[in-house]
Amino acid sequence: MMCDHCDYEALLKAVDLEATANRLGVLEVLGGNSCPLSAGDIFNTLERSGTINRVTVYRILDLLVDRGLVERLSTGGRAFCYGLAPNAHHRPHPHFYCKTCGRMDCLNPDSLKVDTDALRKIFPGQIDKVEVRVDGICKNCIK
Ligand SMILES: [Zn+2]
Ligand SMILES: [Zn+2]
Repeated sequence: MMCDHCDYEALLKAVDLEATANRLGVLEVLGGNSCPLSAGDIFNTLERSGTINRVTVYRILDLLVDRGLVERLSTGGRAFCYGLAPNAHHRPHPHFYCKTCGRMDCLNPDSLKVDTDALRKIFPGQIDKVEVRVDGICKNCIK
């Protein structure tokens, strides 16, 4: 999900992480895109503007997912996509995954409502996160 409002330095600081150039770079790439990206996409974008290696990108993603700044979205296969985690500027939303081209898109938060409040009332454990993925074929692939 695109974000023009997020202050990445403040987000990192809020979870006690130093705002290193590489961490800011990863967050900026994610926030500058309208759809979630694979680790490879993120690496390719960052590599164009500087020197970063693939392992560093994976490590940063793991760390940011762990601290709740980035969400890791499963594609149903072995691949994952990454996007900015919901925060004050963006609400949790479902994603659409195209089984043909592997592209993931953010859907409008209101397009598919999941009533987690009702679930929380009856579920005895703790719910941290709900991931909703809609699978199918995107409009480009259906042509
Ligand atoms: Zn597609
Ligand atoms: Zn999204």
